[in-house]
Amino acid sequence: MGEVMLDLRGIHKSFGTNEVLKGVDLVVRTGEVVVILGPSGSGKSTLLRTVNHLEKVDRGHVSVDGDLVGYRRSGDKLYELKERDILKQRTHIGFVFQNFNLFPHLTALENVVEAPIAAQRRPAAQARAEARELLARVGLADKEDAYPRHLSGGQQQRVAIARALALKPKLLLFDEPTSALDPELVGEVLDVIKDLARGGTTMVVVTHEVGFAREVADTVVFMDDGLIVEQGPPSQVLDDPRQPRTRSFLSKVL
Ligand code: ADP
Ligand code: MG
Repeated sequence: MGEVMLDLRGIHKSFGTNEVLKGVDLVVRTGEVVVILGPSGSGKSTLLRTVNHLEKVDRGHVSVDGDLVGYRRSGDKLYELKERDILKQRTHIGFVFQNFNLFPHLTALENVVEAPIAAQRRPAAQARAEARELLARVGLADKEDAYPRHLSGGQQQRVAIARALALKPKLLLFDEPTSALDPELVGEVLDVIKDLARGGTTMVVVTHEVGFAREVADTVVFMDDGLIVEQGPPSQVLDDPRQPRTRSFLSKVL
């Protein structure tokens, strides 16, 4: 495993009086696959959203590849970056959501080329060639002209993954990428994610798919009530958990 890619330090976040993250520390190294498990409401989505500054933290800091996310430091003070600079940081962090979030009025290919052309100002011909390669990689070479409404949920999610990859992110985040899918479509999406993981993509995946975690994760993180309760290799966290809360959760999902 390589250098530190993502560093979350002492992350605290409240919504009103509801403290959702209570001091989370997590390090993800280049090439590492981290799977986050935990009950609904434990703060998993909020934690992922702090990584690209979709949520501002109340305390602590996030850095990606050595750069503070959302802020710049001057002496011992932090100043929030301008929107434009935050958007630029986000182009290094791919995010795949539960509900795909494709642009409905754009074809599969147009969905994939939109950001590289608009946000990274890459030449259109080159962006389109790369987008075709990415669609082929997720098994959708024959669907480039299809609109999202003509694709299955599994196909839409694979387009969303190709779209996230098009910006050549340093880090890829998945928030329950298969939770909105019919059961028979889960496998095709997990297979694409597995393929990326084996190819060395650095990723953090929030999922309830314990089998996937066992097969693909370098590190499994169990979160409960705004804290990381336990983390380690799958063989430890899944097969020999030390914490009662981890054991209790696994007994419900396995
Ligand atoms: P998980 O993804 O583990 O299910 P979330 O991070 O979505 O958990 O939510 C953790 C807690 O934070 C929940 O109590 C949820 O209601 C609350 N929460 C999340 N986002 C917001 C928000 N934008 N405003 C208010 N409360 C929120
Ligand atoms: Mg969630």
